[in-house]
Amino acid sequence: MYDSDDSSASTTGFSRSAFLGAGTAALATAAVATSAAAQQPQNIGNAEHDHSSSDPGPVNSTLFGINPNTNTPPRTDHGDIGPVWYSFDLARKRVEEGGWTHQITQRELPPSKDIAGVNMRLTAGSFRELHWHTANEWAYMEYGTARITVMNPDGTMFIDDVSEGDLWFFPAGYPHSIQGLGPDGCQFLLVFDEGNFSEDGTFLLSEFMAHIPPEVLAKNSNLSPTDIAKLPKEQLYIFPAQMPKSLAEDKAAIGGNRVAVQQQYTFKMGAMAPTFKSSGGEVRIVDSSNFPVSTSIASALVRIKPGGIRELHWHPNASEWQFWLSGQGRMTIVMPDARARTMDFHANDVAFVPAVAGHYIENTGETDLVFLEMFKAPRFMDVSLNNWIGRMPPEMASAHLKLDPSVIKKIPTEKQPIIGK
Ligand code: MN
Ligand code: MN
Repeated sequence: MYDSDDSSASTTGFSRSAFLGAGTAALATAAVATSAAAQQPQNIGNAEHDHSSSDPGPVNSTLFGINPNTNTPPRTDHGDIGPVWYSFDLARKRVEEGGWTHQITQRELPPSKDIAGVNMRLTAGSFRELHWHTANEWAYMEYGTARITVMNPDGTMFIDDVSEGDLWFFPAGYPHSIQGLGPDGCQFLLVFDEGNFSEDGTFLLSEFMAHIPPEVLAKNSNLSPTDIAKLPKEQLYIFPAQMPKSLAEDKAAIGGNRVAVQQQYTFKMGAMAPTFKSSGGEVRIVDSSNFPVSTSIASALVRIKPGGIRELHWHPNASEWQFWLSGQGRMTIVMPDARARTMDFHANDVAFVPAVAGHYIENTGETDLVFLEMFKAPRFMDVSLNNWIGRMPPEMASAHLKLDPSVIKKIPTEKQPIIGK
């Protein structure tokens, strides 16, 4: 049954679909109403397309124009599923000399209890100050190149250079750094496995040392009062610096293989072979099965060609936090008690899908749609609706869908993450 917000349909017995089926001639006739008829309720079964949906304003024309599924929801939408959208283009930027940062956390997107995201830019040579924090950190390089370091508690050190399409993972509490390289620094998405994480609430090298009594710092670190007086009094956070030496020189400078880690904290996601490919696009899945250090974040990089869809599915093990990299599309999320919401999404938007809620994503643009799916989970998992129907004995499927078994055979029986148009 469709949305029952249109109460006239049930009270009059008037069938909306039958009315629509009568064709455009009938609609035109209805629209050219007499003045007497015009005083009657007009929303008889066609509220989206008659005067009921007229909007005298005011209007934010930019938002209105790019959100057709909010302004004229499909008839299948119903009820309230809570907030599922935010955009980095609405998140206040903290701009410092050397770059900027902004974030979308549970404060901006309240249902997202498991994941918070930060988008950050560092110019060439500039640092995100050495730090650590309570959450695990997963990252995707969006632009440029960077040098990253992370130290294990046993004193072994990881140093690597990353570029567009690469990932890193830093375990909670492990101290790390990010520095923009040439020619134009970098931009990256950070994903934390705590919805309430704040990029302004990290443990910083500068603040740790600035808030230790100087005589203790002298005893601990063998520094003189003159040395200690030169240390930063306040946090550096993001700041410009000289470009580093080559990766090989930096590795050699700290002791080479003697202090090198066993683990690989970076992964080349953009360069890996697709996990799945079809005429409609491709999917690259990275989780702890192929990137072992990423114990708490599973991810998929999805590319959908124009008109294609990420098939109807859900995730049995986690809620989904999406970051849209390019293109545009729409997603419908269906929740219990017939609640459903369709929304439009664009590059730099974040979408949230509640745990185990059914959804699809359709490319509604004329260019490829590219987005990241992230989950607070060690493994990527999804359940395909088509696949499930295909595994039902024919009579079971027929009894539920009210379709003849010969019709049900048309439905693909295997999981197809992307279906071409
Ligand atoms: Mn960090
Ligand atoms: Mn999904």
